[in-house]
Amino acid sequence: MPAPPQALRGRAAVLAIAAGAAVSAASAGSALSDTGTHSADAGDIALLANGEPAPATSTPGAPTTSAPATPSAPEPVVVVPVSAAGPSSDDISSTMLYAGTEINAQREIAEEQARRPKVAMPAIGAFTSPYAMRWGSFHAGIDIANVPGSDIYAATDGTVIDSGPAQGFGNWIRIMADDGTMTVYGHMQSLDVAVGERVHAGQKIAGMGSLGFSTGSHLHFEVLVNGGKDHVDPLTWLLERGLDPMAGSVEGSSSSGS
Ligand SMILES: [Zn+2]
Repeated sequence: MPAPPQALRGRAAVLAIAAGAAVSAASAGSALSDTGTHSADAGDIALLANGEPAPATSTPGAPTTSAPATPSAPEPVVVVPVSAAGPSSDDISSTMLYAGTEINAQREIAEEQARRPKVAMPAIGAFTSPYAMRWGSFHAGIDIANVPGSDIYAATDGTVIDSGPAQGFGNWIRIMADDGTMTVYGHMQSLDVAVGERVHAGQKIAGMGSLGFSTGSHLHFEVLVNGGKDHVDPLTWLLERGLDPMAGSVEGSSSSGS
């Protein structure tokens, strides 16, 4: 990890001084809790000064504290030596460690999202039919066959725009990605997502079936670009993204490597 800029070091030192001062004040004032806030401290001081109970209400959000010390039963006061009141090197390093932990947490979230596949194979199985003329009409998708109930996965991140019965498909699911690519899934026997649902690539969305115009359990898969207007060959589309329907891999590469 590179050394932080001088400005950050300075800020960390100031934070450490402030934290040290607050702890010192709390320790010297009541020794009740090192998590007390300034408002709680003020309440304690008021009670000790005039002998009356502190107001029941305090600053909203202030944590409750234990009962304040009374003059008849004084709590032991921890005397903090002056030399220990200032920030030690431990204070500074712990403050910087905290800041570093927070940065690392944010980085891990970003890295997890970056690792997540941008495109995933919609199903595993035998590649049984290409994007081509078939039986006197154009077959506008590819077919991947496997046993009934096999997992069907969202090929992209996106929003479910259809999930239910459709002519010829039996059931279909259509997912619109943010870039205007629409993927279509047909013949499923079970549906796991509803219209309007947000899905991510690789998420299971359905179970394979043979509903509609189908001769056996398989997934019919289409890809349309330009906002769902123009069909493209799903095999080419997958291969261009590092996914080979013949290879049995579910997850694609999220980078341009390999
Ligand atoms: Zn098909």
